[in-house]
Amino acid sequence: MTITTPNPTLTDSLLVDGAQLIGGEWVPSHTARTIEVINPANREHLASVPRSDASDIDAAVEAAERAFPAWRDLNATARAALLFRWAALIEDNLAELDQLESQEVGRPHWGPPPMAGQLRFIAGQADKVQGVSLPTYSPDALGFTLREPYGVVGAIIPWNAPGPMFVTEVGAAIAAGNTIVMKPAEDAPLTPLALARLSIQAGIPAGVINVVTGYGHEAGAALPAHPRIRRMGFTGSPFTGSLIMAACAENLTPLHLELGGKSPQVVFPDADLDVAVPAMVSGITLNTGQICAAGSRVVVLRSVHDELVERLATQMQKITVGPWNQPVNMGPLINEKQHDRVLGYIEAGKDAGAELVTGGGVPRGGDYGDGFFVEPTLFDGVSPDMKIAREEIFGPVLSVIAVDDEREAIEVANGTDYGLVASVWTRDVGTAIRMSRALQAGQVAVNNALGAAVIGGPFGGYKSSGFGRTMGADSVLEWTQVKTVSMRPATPTL
Ligand code: ADP
Repeated sequence: MTITTPNPTLTDSLLVDGAQLIGGEWVPSHTARTIEVINPANREHLASVPRSDASDIDAAVEAAERAFPAWRDLNATARAALLFRWAALIEDNLAELDQLESQEVGRPHWGPPPMAGQLRFIAGQADKVQGVSLPTYSPDALGFTLREPYGVVGAIIPWNAPGPMFVTEVGAAIAAGNTIVMKPAEDAPLTPLALARLSIQAGIPAGVINVVTGYGHEAGAALPAHPRIRRMGFTGSPFTGSLIMAACAENLTPLHLELGGKSPQVVFPDADLDVAVPAMVSGITLNTGQICAAGSRVVVLRSVHDELVERLATQMQKITVGPWNQPVNMGPLINEKQHDRVLGYIEAGKDAGAELVTGGGVPRGGDYGDGFFVEPTLFDGVSPDMKIAREEIFGPVLSVIAVDDEREAIEVANGTDYGLVASVWTRDVGTAIRMSRALQAGQVAVNNALGAAVIGGPFGGYKSSGFGRTMGADSVLEWTQVKTVSMRPATPTL
């Protein structure tokens, strides 16, 4: 893992305190209530954001409706240019955005943030949205398809990577000509607000991007329930995803869902463990394991099991833990609820008879203060039916499951409700090909973790990990609907 020492002083020129963006105006909630945003490493107050409800969502939908016709009718190259300008401003302010995100999520800095690159990739698609020409029954007719925006769309994102999630959802939706109401997570709304601020500075018109802050059960629930939201995007837990889908079902609103995973790392005896072990440990400790793609289950062929476990344990013990402003590998968990949850899973693992190889504790005292820290944790002797092998923990907890052969490896790897990412570690091309086909996951990574080796890979899940794809070359198309046009002269000429 690359670590860069962050600048310890946060400049606050991008910090938005006590306001949200509706129709180009920075406004409080009509309730006048607020939510405090803290740094989970030390519970330091960072800012307050409006605690909005259905009325604020309604105001944002109206603002987005007013902005829609002009934004839709702006030519696509001009829309792309505005997105490129937004990306340039993000790049100019990358260090500050990174610090803001690091503080609200509590993670240490681990490298250049991907936001500007992600947005440029999306901006490049804005003027490449095309239909097709269709054959006709007679030569005096023309047939073609148009891909049109839905209108006002909504998106709800979680707190684990608020910057990248904001640009991927908002960027793709508005590139297609929609206007959007975004509800960021209550734990990490500051990076989204800062990004929205830069979008205004870039010249993206008022009302195209609206950001309404608040709790999930208040502002969040009101968004998919709004009858004039024409499409939704949601990233978060399966439980909430199912509530969002139910609300969308009421209004027959289409949506995509990205709901996490229990991603397997399948290790064959011929794997290069020098590469695999650091990548697997990094994959489960990056962002303190709070990444939906985190490879949380190691499915290992028995002949290499003992060596692998020993090396994983050694590598895990090298992971340094601390607050955001120190050159450490891993920060705290996001909040008390998540802390209790992860510790609960560690207890469940022990109770079920899994062997705790390393970690499991809570670092305390000194710099740890009253932050929500937990040690990188490795369980061996895990069986596929244990809770820690089936449920998404969203913490730095890795479970090792030994298997006898490839057939059992596939069965175990595919044996959860999830199907987001799966990694395979092998030198054998035949094994890699068979596994790539057999694994039920939206992304398969051979000899890499998190599927991060490609540019513009469509991202999304199989099974309960969700449906729809973001980030890929057709992510903008997901935010369009297809119209078939058939055209004949008023008076037939043939
Ligand atoms: P997590 O447990 O990771 O916070 P959630 O799925 O609960 O996962 O949260 C992800 C996002 O969904 C957050 O922005 C949150 O505010 C929002 N959310 C939570 N509950 C609801 C709900 N009932 N309706 C709409 N959005 C919600």
